[in-house]
Amino acid sequence: MISTSLMPRESPSPAHICPFDQACSYLEEAARELKLDQGILEVLSNPRKVVTVSIPVKRDSGEVQVLAGHRVQHCDILGPYKGGIRYHPAVTLQEVSALAMLMTWKCALVGIPYGGAKGGIAIDPKRYSVGELERITRRYTSELIKDIGPSVDIPAPDMGTSAREMAWIMDTYSVNVGHAVPGVVTGKPLSIGGSLGREMATGRGVMIVVREALADMGKSLVGTRVVIQGFGNVGSAAALLLHQAGAKVIAISTGTGGVFSEVGLDIPALKAYAAENHKSIVGFPQATSISHDQLLTLPCDVLIPAALENQITEENVSQVQAQIIAEGANGPVTLEANQALEARGVTVLPDILANAGGVVVSYLEWVQGLSYVFWDEERVNREMEKLMVQAYRQVIQQSKVRQIPLRLAAYTLGVGRVGQALTDRGLYP
Ligand code: NAD
Repeated sequence: MISTSLMPRESPSPAHICPFDQACSYLEEAARELKLDQGILEVLSNPRKVVTVSIPVKRDSGEVQVLAGHRVQHCDILGPYKGGIRYHPAVTLQEVSALAMLMTWKCALVGIPYGGAKGGIAIDPKRYSVGELERITRRYTSELIKDIGPSVDIPAPDMGTSAREMAWIMDTYSVNVGHAVPGVVTGKPLSIGGSLGREMATGRGVMIVVREALADMGKSLVGTRVVIQGFGNVGSAAALLLHQAGAKVIAISTGTGGVFSEVGLDIPALKAYAAENHKSIVGFPQATSISHDQLLTLPCDVLIPAALENQITEENVSQVQAQIIAEGANGPVTLEANQALEARGVTVLPDILANAGGVVVSYLEWVQGLSYVFWDEERVNREMEKLMVQAYRQVIQQSKVRQIPLRLAAYTLGVGRVGQALTDRGLYP
């Protein structure tokens, strides 16, 4: 194991899998495959900057609560840091650091000039009022004011955050610097410089790589049986686009439970039902209920985990029946489960490829913001599709040439490009 100076290494996750250790293991495997210089590996194993700030917030009751907010900046060799902000009770510094590292490889893999970062606050946003969430977000932004910026570090939505939080961040930053700075965040509302196509982008990217993988097997999306864990930004967009392309989405779950339909769920109707029921899909009339565990092991062609980390593990991997797993979420398959799936010949489309559509359109949003020229949705989707298909093809090619699984192929491309840039730039001083 590589030495890391900024990271505490205890394992706080419920499944006792330290997410940062897992991220480092993938990096080390790629480094071995690439015969990467040991010094470069040392640099890439360490986040460049780890920031934890106190966020005192006055609750609506008058009580004052102090929260911890993190922002980890992994590597800015290729460009400004880029990464989402997560509001979820399971957020830890290790998790945020692992996700920041993942972002570095993801951006390099899809060929956009960004480095990796991630932020998070360990709260359950459902337990806070809108006013409280606004105060938390604005104070968190204010504490990080010197660490973010359109050419420094550009946050985006992740689990538990959305365009609304991005608007608060943009406003807080802009008020502090004295003028409107749309480029400080992506995934913001259209009214303040957001991009058409951003909301659906991650799910669209998932749909594109699944479509390409099926085509490589001589199959099409039409009639393909798909199971999706999560019905938030990523899961619901992927579900809708796959449904529209003729796939049969037979099961979906959210944090409160799942639903199943042998003939395929009516996704527009399910979206409308969730919107009326505080995002819950339990009780959807045209389906039967299904547990979290059952969902992951259903017979299907494509499984899309689009919720949390560590969902396919050593315990349940032998029961997973899908032929293709597309990682909509970050890190939904553990290291051990990944090895078992690869040994069985299951096609695992890794997170740094499968869910990169979001950061690609974030990049397109940033480019539009910096140039003050805004595109129609068709152009955004076309540019995104080009980058996603290109990255997919490069991963397949790398996998064939080196005779390695897709995840390792994707990592070697991402890590290799960052390593090359580090070599070319050299170490300061
Ligand atoms: P979100 O908050 O919009 O949705 C998360 C969904 O997961 C919700 O439907 C929630 O109910 C569900 N969920 C929570 N616990 C669950 C459980 N135990 N079983 C089943 N479902 C559960 O989040 P999101 O933005 O869709 O992000 C989901 C994943 O995708 C995360 O890993 C995130 O890092 C990753 N991701 C998101 C984006 C993006 O653009 N939003 C981009 C890349 C990767």
